[in-house]
Amino acid sequence: MALVGIGLIGSSLARAVRREGLAGEVAIATRRRETLEMARELKLGDAYWLDPAEAVRGADIVVICTPLGAYRQVAEAMAPALAPGAIVTDVGSVKSCFLKDVVPLLPGHVRPVAGHPVAGTEHSGPAAGFPELFAGRWTIVTPTPESDPDAVDKVAELWRRVGSEVEFMEARHHDQVLAITSHLPHLIAYTIVGTATDLEDDLKGEVIRFSASGFRDFTRIAASDPVMWRDVFLANREAVLDILGRFDEDLTALKRAIRRGDGQALEDHFTRTRAIRRGVIDARQDRPDLPPETPETDDDPETA
Ligand code: NAP
Repeated sequence: MALVGIGLIGSSLARAVRREGLAGEVAIATRRRETLEMARELKLGDAYWLDPAEAVRGADIVVICTPLGAYRQVAEAMAPALAPGAIVTDVGSVKSCFLKDVVPLLPGHVRPVAGHPVAGTEHSGPAAGFPELFAGRWTIVTPTPESDPDAVDKVAELWRRVGSEVEFMEARHHDQVLAITSHLPHLIAYTIVGTATDLEDDLKGEVIRFSASGFRDFTRIAASDPVMWRDVFLANREAVLDILGRFDEDLTALKRAIRRGDGQALEDHFTRTRAIRRGVIDARQDRPDLPPETPETDDDPETA
């Protein structure tokens, strides 16, 4: 197995693959020497390279674990070294990006299949990973009609073996779903924390002092990696803008209800959204790492 990119997701996968004994040899490539040395110190793999081509040479499966903005460059660099029949997959948060930036650059003799573990934290880098990250979380695999069925099975099996539940979806549909469940919430968190940051100094101090659970949770989400999230919004522009348009309309309706003192409209809205929360808990997506009867807490793991 070759892992190109060894941050939170790549290093978590490396740890889980090692723990489960899923690969004979794990080769790791990353861009910066410091990161590579950290991966070596953490004993995340068997071979360490700065050049993706060296890492993927002879690999049966290659997993791209870099931010989306690096996809084209990584695909270009590794393409000539890929073995015939090799599976090329990824973990990126926007699946149309793999189809657009990676697949066209690969030789015809490899088998591309995109995937996305819907699991994460607000931390990044090789030291932030842990092998249980994927346990009980969804991984969405997005094959196309051209995908090799055996490669699709193998990618799905890899994620199952590291503890994920697997769902199949069309890439475009995946990007629409994630725009509302993950990308918009992150944008809202970045906005709120940005608004608070721009407040006059005296107000800002109070915001930090009294940041009980509501604002505190937003600050955690807004601490997510700036490069990764820049790339997510650029890569999923269309779906995010579409969902932002709808969000804008709903926000305007709530604003109008507040301005008019329409308590009934506010209460109706909040009652409907409360039912959604119940559904999330029933689907065990609030803390899927815990048994269903465990009381809920505010401390949900973050996903991208
Ligand atoms: P991360 O912790 O910031 O790690 C990114 C890794 O990619 C680092 O090892 C970085 O190495 C490397 N990298 C960056 N540019 C590169 C390049 N041009 N060539 C080779 N390596 C390069 O990021 P992450 O959170 O693991 O995210 C990785 C991917 O997973 C992203 O596509 C993201 O959309 C997806 N994802 C993230 C989450 C999440 O919650 N974080 C969840 C699901 C999926 P250097 O230090 O050497 O630059």
